[in-house]
Amino acid sequence: MSTDDVTPSAAQVKAAGSGRPTHPREPHSGGTVGRLNWLRAGVLGANDGIVSVAGIVIGVAGATTDRGAIFTAGLAGLVGGAVSMSLGEYVSVSSQRDSERAEITQEKQELADDPDAELTELTALYEAKGLSAATARTVAAELTARGALDAHLDAELHIDPDDIANPAQAAGASALSFVSGALLPMLAILLPPAGLRVPVTFVAVLVALALTGALSARLGGGDARRAVLRVVIGGALGLAFTYAVGHLFGTAVG
Ligand SMILES: [Zn+2]
Repeated sequence: MSTDDVTPSAAQVKAAGSGRPTHPREPHSGGTVGRLNWLRAGVLGANDGIVSVAGIVIGVAGATTDRGAIFTAGLAGLVGGAVSMSLGEYVSVSSQRDSERAEITQEKQELADDPDAELTELTALYEAKGLSAATARTVAAELTARGALDAHLDAELHIDPDDIANPAQAAGASALSFVSGALLPMLAILLPPAGLRVPVTFVAVLVALALTGALSARLGGGDARRAVLRVVIGGALGLAFTYAVGHLFGTAVG
């Protein structure tokens, strides 16, 4: 193979730089993986919304046929769940962002204090990756000349400064996915006549869980059939249990 065969075109260099595949059928490119993670988080959030609000409305429906009471309980669960999900997400993404920012600040300081030691460090990182000492030195020197901070963030800290996590965005996305999932059991329990509420909700929730289970298994590269079986059996047991608890305690207390 001559060198010409492996020299990337300008378009391939551009694609690699922005996380797109440089040739067809490449399974692992940064951009796609990032989007899949987002999609997966959305599916899991919707799943949470379906399960927790279905548990609430079916539990309450086990105790009462009062539509207003079922609606109020479901709405409270929807709002409470969305708030708790987005708050948790906000806190965790904020601390991730803070630690990334602190690492960037420290790296800037180190580069200002001792650029020679930092160049040695970068050279060592590339040697450790398998480059020869001479090539590693050339790579480190060229990258340092182009932008020392970016070079260190990439090779040493694995941080993309253009891609720092956004807490508000993550919080909003998780609230949205939870609410979109929660709407399903709300509609399923409120729309049908009283006698059909619980069975309709059971079926709707199990079908939805099967779909989200299959989707998240596929996104994660797992076995879809086993994931669906697990989530449908787990969901059916959980819903039967909350209905029984609501029925027993609701009638005992009420
Ligand atoms: Zn460094």
